[in-house]
Amino acid sequence: MDLAQLAFLGKLPLGRKRVYLDNNATTPLAPKVRKVMEKVLRKNFGNPSSVHHYGREARSILEKARAQLASSLSVAPSRIVFTGCATESNNAVIKALAKHFSPHKKKIIASPIEHPSVMATLEYLKTQGMEIEYCGVDTQGRLDLVRLKQLMDDDCFLLCCMLANNESGVIQDMESISKLVKKKDCLLLCDCVQAFGKIPIKLKEWGVDYASFSAHKLYGPKGIGALYIKEGVPFSALVHGGHQETGLRAGTEALHNIAGFGEACLNVPRLLRHSHHLQKLKTHFLESLKKRQLDFILNSPEQYCLPNTISIRFPGISNHQLMAYLDYQGIAVSAASACSSRSQKISHVLKAIGLSDEEAGETIRISLGHQSRKKDIDYTVKTLAAFIMAPQKQIEMLPSSRLNKEIILDDDNYLLDLRPESFRKKEGNLPKADERSFFALEKFYKELPRDKKIIIICEGGGFSFVAAYFLKKKGFSRVSNVLGGFEKWKSYFPELILKNASSLIKD
Ligand code: PLP
Repeated sequence: MDLAQLAFLGKLPLGRKRVYLDNNATTPLAPKVRKVMEKVLRKNFGNPSSVHHYGREARSILEKARAQLASSLSVAPSRIVFTGCATESNNAVIKALAKHFSPHKKKIIASPIEHPSVMATLEYLKTQGMEIEYCGVDTQGRLDLVRLKQLMDDDCFLLCCMLANNESGVIQDMESISKLVKKKDCLLLCDCVQAFGKIPIKLKEWGVDYASFSAHKLYGPKGIGALYIKEGVPFSALVHGGHQETGLRAGTEALHNIAGFGEACLNVPRLLRHSHHLQKLKTHFLESLKKRQLDFILNSPEQYCLPNTISIRFPGISNHQLMAYLDYQGIAVSAASACSSRSQKISHVLKAIGLSDEEAGETIRISLGHQSRKKDIDYTVKTLAAFIMAPQKQIEMLPSSRLNKEIILDDDNYLLDLRPESFRKKEGNLPKADERSFFALEKFYKELPRDKKIIIICEGGGFSFVAAYFLKKKGFSRVSNVLGGFEKWKSYFPELILKNASSLIKD
């Protein structure tokens, strides 16, 4: 993807309104955080390990940030290690403990709704001979403590349980979980990434052994995470090659990011005090949907939920289409977590709380931030209502089962294939299709025939939907979007796929 293509992506919301409701994916940088970071970038380029005054200045900034983070968690600064991100923090703990306890103990228990940085690490360790058990959750997403008790045995050395979930917002009963874990002489890793700044975190009171954090969920910078390690518990470095972070995480510290993280932590008490603002907006959103008599089901629990997170399902409405429409109207939400919304995989979190594939495919996640305003919510509700009341009015939806040979070969129709070239090469071509890159749409759309019906297909039905709106806005009167994209279509018409057809890509 070149720079012009990226610029096009940025321009895609065609209206003037922009509403960001994806704060669990990441948050905007707080202005004060940016200022502190800019100052460090301008003035403090020294290496914190150097002994001269440049280094000493850098070192003092590093230790100040550590103290700021530690203070916001009411722990000693010596218990905090800075990492590259929370994904690294989770990896570091799990891998260090697997090494420490193996071969005497081999069992790790986890909730089935952990972030992929935990899940994928556990699945990797499974291939290395570790035994991984996922303890069930109830329909709210809360860990089944009776089952947990049964699973805990002498072979188990670690429980991975996040404090609050990134997709549904469910908050775990960490106090009870920790009590259970301690009785069995087991260690507890608590991913606090989503909880930090949204609900109180009581690491010492609960007896958490390890906890992971990430600055970019807290109006801080990306590329900086942290790990809390309780005194006396085992740990060894994941990254070797230097004495930084008391030998627990090698590599020259990203001082500007660390300073930004520290500054962001100063805001935590204020964020917690204002969490009722988020809760109020959330209530207003749900009440407004009800007032408009829109059919919806809330996946997020009503109790024990982050104040900013709304996982919601609109029966009969595909989340990819809805998301594309909202995006087109300038509203950013997510299909599940940011990590799984690009892949067409059904969210493991929604599955774990009992949703069917179909129900998960109707779910969107709205995550509010402290910059969210009531007028943003009102605009979102209005836009949602416009789509839900008349999705067909917006763009013609062509079920993939109906895109048969006759329709493709009909001279009145013009099939526009927006799948990436690599995908086409792997999966095959479509008959009579104009093969283009979605990202070059702005460049080539004028070449498309205005007298024909443009039928757009992409991999999964998301990009094609956005493209359909784009063309509609550009005055194309007959535009049709293939629901579910090529992935669905190929199960109906495998015989129409042209293997090894020459590529006609013109971008
Ligand atoms: N844990 C949770 C619950 C998250 O939501 C995320 C990010 O989405 C992470 C871990 C990973 O954080 P990072 O982006 O710092 O690697």
